[in-house]
Amino acid sequence: MLKLNRRVAALRPSATMAAEARATELKEAGADVISLAAGEPDFDTPERIKEAARRALAAGQTKYTAASGTTALKQAICYKLKRDNGLEYEAAEVMASAGGKQGAFNVIATLFDEGDEVIIPTPAWVSFAEMVRLSGAQPKLVRASQDHGFRLSAAQLRSAISARTRGIIINSPCNPTGAVYREEHLRELSRVLAESGIWVLCDDVYEHMTYGGSAPHLFRIEPRLRYHGIVLNSLSKTYAMTGWRVGIVAGPREVIQAVARLQGQNSGNPNSIAQAAAVEALKGPQDEVATMVAEFHKRRDYVVERVRALPGFSLPNLPEGAFYAFPEVSPLLSVKWKGAPIGDGDGLARILLDEAQVALVGGNDFGAPEHVRISYATSMANLQKAFDRIEGVARRILEG
Ligand code: GLU
Repeated sequence: MLKLNRRVAALRPSATMAAEARATELKEAGADVISLAAGEPDFDTPERIKEAARRALAAGQTKYTAASGTTALKQAICYKLKRDNGLEYEAAEVMASAGGKQGAFNVIATLFDEGDEVIIPTPAWVSFAEMVRLSGAQPKLVRASQDHGFRLSAAQLRSAISARTRGIIINSPCNPTGAVYREEHLRELSRVLAESGIWVLCDDVYEHMTYGGSAPHLFRIEPRLRYHGIVLNSLSKTYAMTGWRVGIVAGPREVIQAVARLQGQNSGNPNSIAQAAAVEALKGPQDEVATMVAEFHKRRDYVVERVRALPGFSLPNLPEGAFYAFPEVSPLLSVKWKGAPIGDGDGLARILLDEAQVALVGGNDFGAPEHVRISYATSMANLQKAFDRIEGVARRILEG
């Protein structure tokens, strides 16, 4: 048998990428599949950003840059952090990565080690636990209850911290639940976090996608967290730039130096053309962001209404941010389908793909097997068609 590195051998495939890949495969084979799987804005990258890429290409900006990104991009990142988050960082305290995912991975690999524990409030994005395991540390999954709006409480946080705890990953707005930590929630958590001294990784990827008011940044609420705090962000969702692969990391200078060293030994710099486009994205007019968010808001309202009307689905909390709904589907899971119980959200997602040609992601790898994740980063026409089909199949399942 092929002998692989022990940690890579144990690695699970990314459930979000796998669901999207299955949908694409079926579409390419001619099936009329609607994908509500990957969290990927359906909008095109704004023209001014594409134009900046064309200019960079014409000017021959096709060479290596510093592994951590160009000076122009680091300055643009500092400008963004001040403008959007009220956080002052110097160029030596920030870097660019090839997508938010690489930034998160490199930070986790830099800070954590065997024997360490990293708290991940669940439901959480599928890749965090795997990244922590790859670093040699153990993810400590703490389930945030639906009754508490899927937000980790300060009491839960306090009791999860042990002598081995070295960090926590906080993602607000949250993928997959859409939960947003408001100022009062962040204030409560910040007290415990400041006392504990553990690394606080803030995943801000969905920061602009909020539909009922945003919240100040955790590091604004408690500036002492900056000493043991890391900002993780990406241009993918905000500027519809998923394919360009540009992520942002900000934190204490020594940490950034170490993360850049790691990046210098694995990928080197993020794509040079994409970096030039990213400068324009961050520094140019931000009107398109508001336009896209307004559209997501409309879709969120529509999706909530449709999900709440689906037999066997429940969605008690309004998803206040990101572009996902994460309904519970428990009543459907004990029902038998073709001789066997559906079992979990992944089982239901498989049936919906086969019977309704709608791709969703099951909740298992998000840490909530009794749920499914529905991405509404697709057109209203697709959403309407997809929900009509899901409704039909859910009725058939419940009617036996
Ligand atoms: N983060 C997005 C999602 O959850 C994109 C896919 C991925 O990187 O996991 O669907």
